[in-house]
Amino acid sequence: MKSTLMHLKSCRRALVASHVNPDGDAIGSLIAMGLALKSLGKEVTMYNESAIPAVYQFLPAIDRIVSRVADFSAYDTAVILDCGNLDRVGEAGSAIGAIGTVVNIDHHVTNNGFGDLQYVDTEACASAELVYRLIHELGVTISEAMAWSLYTGILTDTGSFRFSNTNRAAFAISEEMLTIGVDPWMVAQYVYGTYSLGRIKLLNLALDTIELAHDGKVSLMTVTRKMLEKTGTRPEDADGMINYARGIEDVRLAVLIQQNGNGGPAANGNGPYHVSLRSDGSVDAAAIAAAFGGGGHASAAGFNVEAVSLAELKARILELATDL
Ligand code: AMP
Ligand code: MN
Ligand code: MN
Repeated sequence: MKSTLMHLKSCRRALVASHVNPDGDAIGSLIAMGLALKSLGKEVTMYNESAIPAVYQFLPAIDRIVSRVADFSAYDTAVILDCGNLDRVGEAGSAIGAIGTVVNIDHHVTNNGFGDLQYVDTEACASAELVYRLIHELGVTISEAMAWSLYTGILTDTGSFRFSNTNRAAFAISEEMLTIGVDPWMVAQYVYGTYSLGRIKLLNLALDTIELAHDGKVSLMTVTRKMLEKTGTRPEDADGMINYARGIEDVRLAVLIQQNGNGGPAANGNGPYHVSLRSDGSVDAAAIAAAFGGGGHASAAGFNVEAVSLAELKARILELATDL
C-alpha cells in the first residue's frame, strides 16, 4: 500500500480505468478514485470502454467517464480498478499496459499481479473498500460525489450486504458515507427499484430457461440474443437474474450463459458468450472460470467464450462441475 500511496501522491497525469461491462463497483471505484486524484491537483481521465448501464446514471460525476482516449501515451500513470488481469479493461489493454506506471487495485482472488504497483486485498468486500482506504491515507476529504460512488460500489458488490464478502468495513464505510450525505433509499431506488417493462419480460423468459443438472446441484439459465431483441433490452438488463437460479434449494452452482453478453459478432458458432457463475460457497466458481480463461471470486466468477454451440458450452461447464 505504501508504494502505491507514494506513487499516487507524485503522479501528474493519471488514466483511471475499470473493467468492461462495468458493475457498480467498477463504476463507483472509478469515480471515487478519479475525483480523489483530481482533488490532489492531478490531471485525470476516467475511462471505461463500455456504455454505462442506465441504473448508474444517477451517480454524481458519472458524465466524467469517457469511453475514448485519443492518446494513451500521454499519461504517466494508469490506475486500474476491479480488474483481475489487464485484459479486463478491454481492447485498450495493451496500450494501457504501456503507460509508464501501471497501478493494480483489486480484490479478486484470481488477480494475476499485473502492473508495476499492486494494492490487492482479497479480503476487501469491494474495490471501493480499497479506494476508500487509499483516499483516507491520501488525506483527501471525501466529497458527496465520492461518497455516493463508494457506497454504490459496496452495496452492489456485497449484493446489498448479503454475499459472503460482506464484512465489517462494508457497514463501517457505508455508515460514514451516510454521514456525508448519501441517501440509501435513493440508491436502492435507482439501482434495484426502477426497471423497464422489457426487463421484467426478459426475466420471465430467462426464468423459463432454468434447468437443473447433476442431481439438482447445478442450475443453468440462458439469455439469448433473440430474447433481448424480443423484449427490447440490453445485455446489462440481465444483471442479477442469476440470483434466481442460485437461490433454488440444493443448488450449489448457478450458471448464467449470456449470448452476445460482450457485444461483437462471433466468427462462427453462436457466441460470443459471457458466462456468470455463482456458488453457495461449497464450489470454487473462480477455479471453474479460470479453466476457461476468466476469473473472479470463489462465490462469483465469470468468463467469456467465443465460438462454440450452446449445447457444447453447457456440456463443457457441466464436465468441470462434476465434483459437487
Ligand atoms: P459476472 O458474472 O460478470 O457478474 O462476474 C462475476 C465476477 O467474475 C466479477 O467479480 C467479475 O469481475 C469476474 N469476471 C467476470 N467475467 C470475467 C472475465 N472474463 N475474466 C475475469 N474475471 C471475470
Ligand atoms: Mn466488478
Ligand atoms: Mn468488485
